[in-house]
Amino acid sequence: MSRSTRLDIDLGAISANIAVLREITVEQKLMAVVKANAYGHGAVAVSRHIESQVDALAVAFTEEAVTLREAGIAAPILVLEGPHAASDIALAAKLDLWPAIHQSQQFEWCQAHIADLSQIWIKVDTGMHRLGFELEELDSIRNKLSHAGGTDLTLMSHLAAAEHPDNALTTSQARRWSELTQRWDGQTSLNNSAATRSAMGYRSDWARVGYALYGGQIEGMAADDRLQPAMRLTSAVIAIRQVPVGDSVGYGGRWVAQRDSLIATVPVGYGDGYPWSAADGTPVSVAGQLAPLAGRVSMDMITVDVTDCADVEVGSMAVLWGDEPHIDEVARHCGTIGYELMTRFTRRTPVRYLNA
Ligand SMILES: *Cc1c(COP(=O)(O)O)cnc(C)c1O
Repeated sequence: MSRSTRLDIDLGAISANIAVLREITVEQKLMAVVKANAYGHGAVAVSRHIESQVDALAVAFTEEAVTLREAGIAAPILVLEGPHAASDIALAAKLDLWPAIHQSQQFEWCQAHIADLSQIWIKVDTGMHRLGFELEELDSIRNKLSHAGGTDLTLMSHLAAAEHPDNALTTSQARRWSELTQRWDGQTSLNNSAATRSAMGYRSDWARVGYALYGGQIEGMAADDRLQPAMRLTSAVIAIRQVPVGDSVGYGGRWVAQRDSLIATVPVGYGDGYPWSAADGTPVSVAGQLAPLAGRVSMDMITVDVTDCADVEVGSMAVLWGDEPHIDEVARHCGTIGYELMTRFTRRTPVRYLNA
């Protein structure tokens, strides 16, 4: 088979990013967030590679944790949404998962298995209003868990706009968090990638880091060039044609040649995970040079204006994102965020692991 479209995952880059994050997080414990198939990088492969380099892993829901345990991953795993049903807690007890509890029904489910839950995290809503107990409920839920036999309790919350440490939402969440943690003697966890990188010194014994681990930069913050992109989406040119001035390219004729142009066709499309929303001008690297997308993304193909590129031929390598263009740059041209681009891959795209 000779299909060239492929997702390269550089496990060595993730390890290098962990080393950088260890420097930033100083004495915090590092929890690697591997939900959504490790942000599209492959949860089992990534977890196997990094489990000895981090203090714990985190996933969104129980099935994701079960997949990791079945693959032999032994590291502690936090389930960020906690149990969705009583049966999830039985699994948590059996597989030694750490549930996060954010609403009172989950406490009822925990009671029967509490002796087998090595850690329970209690999530409070400091202002994001997505998950978490109200601040005034905390004492009651903590007492209930302690009475039931829950010994190791960690307090957690989530910031809605951590990349903007000075905005009113963040300062209000930080104030509530600080009040809560003053009367909390166990472990705590607040920082996500953005809060870890902004290093504002919020109390947080555990950093829960996802996006930065994979080399994503945070929109609205200065880039940290030490973080290397771990994902590279590549393909190769399968056709080149001359398009005369005034003619259009692709569905709907969206892109119209403003001069006689050279168009390269690359066999990657939205059926592979490259976004349909990509605008004309979205950067694509062809034969090592950045060139603009020209025309709508199809299911299987894109077209790129390579008029200004040298030495482009059938077989020339195309990089959709990687070191250059960076996934966050591509996302800006697609009206989305790099997080979404990472997680939207389909099974159609073959994956190759590097530097394991
Ligand atoms: C996804 C998630 C994280 C990780 O966020 P990043 O921005 O990727 O670092 C941390 N905490 C919670 C509760 C999450 O849902």
